Amino acid sequence: MSGLFAGTPLERPVTCEQCGAVLDACQCPRDSTGCVRPPASQPLIIRREKRRRGKLVTSVQGLDPVASDATALLRRLKSTCGAGGTIEDGVIEIQGDHRTRIGELLAEAGYPVRVIDG
Ligand SMILES: [Zn+2]
Repeated sequence: MSGLFAGTPLERPVTCEQCGAVLDACQCPRDSTGCVRPPASQPLIIRREKRRRGKLVTSVQGLDPVASDATALLRRLKSTCGAGGTIEDGVIEIQGDHRTRIGELLAEAGYPVRVIDG
């Protein structure tokens, strides 16, 4: 099946507006509309919330569901905090009050974070 695309007229290469690479080679995170969404353009809100039976969780809101790997972030946050956690409707929830540590980790990853006292 070689030459499947042979003969296709080459279009002008489209380059990424963020890194300047040809789109095929671009590794920039993108949202569902194809726009570049680096962590710096995903402001996150970290807050403490009360769950059933008065249990405290730390929630992280504002992640782009496509441009961010929420599952990988959840794994990092769980091991950093030594706590369980889950993702509900795109919101990361870590058991316990770990706002400071989570805020530091996400800021290091490049996200603008706002920690809300609650
Ligand atoms: Zn790029």
